[in-house]
Amino acid sequence: MADKRAKRIAKFIKPLRVKPGSQVDLCDFDPRYKAGMKKREGIELLQTGVSLLAEYQARLAAQDTHGVLLCLQALDAGGKDGTIRHVMSGVNPQGVHVTSFKVPSTEELDHDYLWRYARKLPARGEIAIFNRSHYEEVLVVRVHPENLNRQRLPESALGASIWDRRYREINDWERYLTDNGFTVVKIFLNLSKEEQRTRFLKRIDLPDKNWKFSAADVRERRYWDDYQEAFSEMLSATSTPWAPWYVVPADRKWFARICAGAVLAHTLIKIDPHYPVVGDQARRDLLATRRDLEEEAPEGAPADPYKAEHGLPDGGDEQ
Ligand code: AMP
Ligand code: MG
Repeated sequence: MADKRAKRIAKFIKPLRVKPGSQVDLCDFDPRYKAGMKKREGIELLQTGVSLLAEYQARLAAQDTHGVLLCLQALDAGGKDGTIRHVMSGVNPQGVHVTSFKVPSTEELDHDYLWRYARKLPARGEIAIFNRSHYEEVLVVRVHPENLNRQRLPESALGASIWDRRYREINDWERYLTDNGFTVVKIFLNLSKEEQRTRFLKRIDLPDKNWKFSAADVRERRYWDDYQEAFSEMLSATSTPWAPWYVVPADRKWFARICAGAVLAHTLIKIDPHYPVVGDQARRDLLATRRDLEEEAPEGAPADPYKAEHGLPDGGDEQ
């Protein structure tokens, strides 16, 4: 059963993965793609993804050897917040940490550019979600080079080759994390310019959404083409065998959420964490303790109420 679900998910996300080494041009990716699916059918797949996530996250936490880092990138109104809310709806909040990265603080700018991201990495057994990520360092920083000036880099670290160098450093960093048990998975929510316009207008039209509207976001829209180019280059350079990118069509929110859930579920399935099994001696100790507890049963109570209720046979180590 789990295997069938796993296969279905793997097949579903395959077309979204950016093949390592391929040249990406975002024009080739359709933000309205929905794999011929109807929204109604999608609900079932979303449920499959969410229940798989819950199941595997519990095992990831129990096994406590691997961690997962999910990086979410998108332009404004791309649906990052809603995707996180839906994808994580079934999981235990104790095992997930979400960090939203904003304009860097003075303290953050006083360190190397990966510093603030490294501080928010997952521990073993955890899933960390980056709402925006270290990829901003080759996106917004590239589109607006004044951000680079604020980073106060020495002359020797500047120059035209800086972006290629950052791609390499990011790939190396992610490789290091992967080698040490932390899987890195990256999702780009690919929104069309027209859908962004519609979502901005919705934020103006509906009073409950006004708080989400930012005039700065609309100004940023003027740099649309520059961002498309920066994203295309970044996706080409940093989709690696150890940390691939998935380009998720984002014009339909319901479809983007299914895809994101499926990508994360697939990642956990590949890790295949297991509940630790106790050794023979520990098991014998458990059984001895059980006998002690059974002897404490009050008058008229079953020796082991759990066993009695669930119809397990008496004595021994049958379960
Ligand atoms: P939001 O995600 O809408 O809350 O906005 C966060 C803002 O922080 C966006 O405008 C990003 O472009 C900006 N931002 C995030 N990371 C960086 C960075 N490393 N350098 C400069 N600006 C950033
Ligand atoms: Mg914003």
